[in-house]
Amino acid sequence: MTSPLANIYARLPVAFTHGQGVWLWDAEGRKYLDALAGIGVSCLGHAHPKLVAAISEQAARVIHTSNIYEVPQQTALAARLTALSGMQEVAFNNSGSEANEAAIKLARYYAYQRGNKHAHIITMDSSWHGRTLATLAATGSDKARKGFEPLPSGFIQVPYNHLDAVRNAGDAEPRTTAVLLEVLQGEGGIRPSDIAYLQALRRLCTERGWLLMIDEVQSGIGRTGKWFAHQWADIVPDVMTLAKGLAGGVPIGAMLAAGPAAGVFTPGSHGTTFGGGPLVCAAGLAVLDTLESENLLHNALTVGDYLKDKLASALSGTPGVTEVRGRGLMLGIELARPCGVLALRALEAGLLINVTRDRVIRMLPPLILNHQEADQIVNTLVPLIQQFLAEKP
Ligand SMILES: *Cc1c(COP(=O)(O)O)cnc(C)c1O
Repeated sequence: MTSPLANIYARLPVAFTHGQGVWLWDAEGRKYLDALAGIGVSCLGHAHPKLVAAISEQAARVIHTSNIYEVPQQTALAARLTALSGMQEVAFNNSGSEANEAAIKLARYYAYQRGNKHAHIITMDSSWHGRTLATLAATGSDKARKGFEPLPSGFIQVPYNHLDAVRNAGDAEPRTTAVLLEVLQGEGGIRPSDIAYLQALRRLCTERGWLLMIDEVQSGIGRTGKWFAHQWADIVPDVMTLAKGLAGGVPIGAMLAAGPAAGVFTPGSHGTTFGGGPLVCAAGLAVLDTLESENLLHNALTVGDYLKDKLASALSGTPGVTEVRGRGLMLGIELARPCGVLALRALEAGLLINVTRDRVIRMLPPLILNHQEADQIVNTLVPLIQQFLAEKP
């Protein structure tokens, strides 16, 4: 049978009918531990009563009005996000790509207002910023870009976590306007950057007048145990983008601006039909309230450390395991060879994970994960990895 769907995804052979907490069920009643949370989206797990109530109540009142009117839920969510980040203003949209697209547009407009009509933005190798044309141009993946040229120009890619590379590239291109990076790369294989690098990068950007733009689409909203992963380095970016976990599963994106980046956009410079509507913003507010009231940042950190330590000790000395790494509940296990098949084997064993960059098993469980559930991840995943590595490549 041919599918009516565009052939975009290599889907696993399962559909889920409902969920509760970190668990999902399929139509046959099989239960799965969701250690991926829809790629870091369902941060409160499934069917969280507070999120369900916020969405249902808002849906019963009004779902959509328009950005040509005041949207109080949007103002309230923006106030929460600026307070949590120390930043000044928020523009909402509908996805991570769109949030980064807005950041790229902001950097260009900022340059334009200063007489630079061909802004250049420095981005990182193995980064991921989305699949729209500009965000693809920013993304450090030849595989994702291939076949979609010509892409917007004005992007310079440099090695990740390497300060001199940014300085040299920026100094060599006088039209450099901004640096865009993930502080903990997600799709790129759960690759962290050093705190000293981030602090030096913050200073460099300030000295040179470059906007520091941090993509927290995957690492933000409590995932690493801080509201935003860059807060581990005690820095404040000029621009930050958010999406995945922000509204617990309903589509949202946000671009925050501060300092020199605040006030760049004025009416007419940017906009969206759906972005920041009453429904998604009510969901976003419920997510932030619940993360706070249930102390879930602390939970992400303690259960994340526990899970990482358990995985590391269970796998220590296993030939073919390169590294167990990550922060909070954003964890990766890098193997010495491609291991994409493990996503299917884990599914068959009742565990949802995925594999990124061919060799990195990725876990982004809901931030409500408890120790017992973490144990279950270890007990299911470790034997699968050991068995896989014992097979002939
Ligand atoms: C997922 C992701 C994006 C893209 O978000 P979409 O909602 O898929 O457009 C951008 N940046 C990072 C860091 C991501 O993880």
